[in-house]
Amino acid sequence: MNLILFGPPGAGKGTQSALLVERLKMRQISTGDLFREAMNKQTALGKRAKEFVDAGKLVPDEIVIGMVDEVLEKLNGQSFILDGFPRTVPQAEALAALLLRRSLSIGRVVFLEVPRVELLSRLSGRRVCTKCGAVYHVESKPAKIQGVCDVCGGEVVQRKDDRESVIRIRLEEYDQSTAPVKDFYKKAGRSVEIDGTGDTEAVFSRIRSQGV
Ligand code: ADP
Ligand code: ADP
Ligand code: ZN
Repeated sequence: MNLILFGPPGAGKGTQSALLVERLKMRQISTGDLFREAMNKQTALGKRAKEFVDAGKLVPDEIVIGMVDEVLEKLNGQSFILDGFPRTVPQAEALAALLLRRSLSIGRVVFLEVPRVELLSRLSGRRVCTKCGAVYHVESKPAKIQGVCDVCGGEVVQRKDDRESVIRIRLEEYDQSTAPVKDFYKKAGRSVEIDGTGDTEAVFSRIRSQGV
């Protein structure tokens, strides 16, 4: 079954995706990760996306949609999780067309619900591995050796856009452009709201209990 994991910045989309990849062998399609990878490699896509990502703004729809379509093209039948896409109503509409064209479908749209105060503490304490993308938190999930990834030994750092001034802009972008996507999927059916608080295993069980 293919999934959309939907939620504000810091809701736990990346964390839950990693569990789904590890345990259910699903394929994670994280548009944020794809942009960061392109930015690291300084590809043409990365150069176009950088000014938006660094400022906490959404990357223009046509760039994101083209990038996702390229990934869908290479899936080879593996079940996938869309993590961080779609983030605007036009992206959701474009996705519907892309899926139809490739005879793919989404089984569930999972909304991860987390109160705003907790989002702020999750985002400001988030740390990520620059090499493998593993996600940590200074309090709830610290790396065993500070600054070093448990998984691959890579360097663990704070994302540039996880600084407080940029977090504020990202949450505004969510309220303005992304929250309306919820109603889009509520009307379409197949969406479920999941409590995203409590430990990550509890959240994972709640997702699994939706037939995932
Ligand atoms: P998103 O991909 O939705 O932005 P992440 O999965 O990167 O969110 O999580 C944001 C931060 O919150 C990370 O530092 C992560 O370790 C932490 N986190 C994720 N899930 C939980 C949870 N259930 N409880 C506490 N902290 C969490
Ligand atoms: P978060 O942890 O806030 O959910 P992501 O890693 O998903 O962050 O995204 C980081 C940044 O990448 C976003 O602030 C935005 O600039 C860009 N981005 C990711 N996905 C999209 C998308 N679907 N549409 C537009 N911009 C996106
Ligand atoms: Zn790593």
